[in-house]
Amino acid sequence: MGIGLYFLNSIVKRIFRINKGDYLVHFSSRLNQSKNVKVGEGENKHKVYLSFALSGGCYYQAYNGIEIGAGSIWAFGCKFVSTNHSFSNYTKPTKGEPIRLGKNVWLGSNVVILPEVQIGDYAVIGAGAVVTKDIKAYEIAVGNPAKVIAKRCTKCLDKIPLKSKDPVHLCKHQTKEEYKD
Ligand SMILES: [Zn+2]
Repeated sequence: MGIGLYFLNSIVKRIFRINKGDYLVHFSSRLNQSKNVKVGEGENKHKVYLSFALSGGCYYQAYNGIEIGAGSIWAFGCKFVSTNHSFSNYTKPTKGEPIRLGKNVWLGSNVVILPEVQIGDYAVIGAGAVVTKDIKAYEIAVGNPAKVIAKRCTKCLDKIPLKSKDPVHLCKHQTKEEYKD
């Protein structure tokens, strides 16, 4: 992180009392209920804190909790919305399970994650996706509402097409026979 950004993030946190918590959050992002944010243990834990510090324009609404596995990263403009309003009283947040990201998840710019969504290890969510339902480990999802369009190889993490698609590009761990219907 550059010294200028470190300084700006620190000023926003210490002087203006915005984005309170044990770690720095980008000055243009907003973090509510930081006590409900949990970062998982693991060797790449620092990548999670780097995304908090470097990715601006993000919104972390953690009333029901946000859990993020070590090694996960996200770009500018991501929104983590952990609770809805009650339909009968929109001043009341509804209770529910936290948003859970596994380890080494990667979110593109402007991804929106809605309440109770769970995203598995090594999943990738394309820019602008609105994730309304769970995404399993190694899946690649895009769009609104987010749909799975491909997976990643569990060995080399390369993108591999779904079985129904033409095997235009397969990594060395997949065979063309596996991808015949
Ligand atoms: Zn592979």
